[in-house]
Amino acid sequence: MEACSLNILKYLFLDICPKCKKRLNTNKSNKILSLIVKSCPDEHFEKVYHPALETYVEINK
Ligand SMILES: [Zn+2]
Repeated sequence: MEACSLNILKYLFLDICPKCKKRLNTNKSNKILSLIVKSCPDEHFEKVYHPALETYVEINK
């Protein structure tokens, strides 16, 4: 794994839901599309990271 990927994972690990403060899950990640999808375990919040674009899309539910 490349160093930049480790930094991304470290950042992702710190993310929490803005509503319930629970840590976001990353088990929806789509390796085929190279997307990292993070979601609240209670479905409050979802975040999609595009590594190629270095951009986040945040979704409040
Ligand atoms: Zn939540």
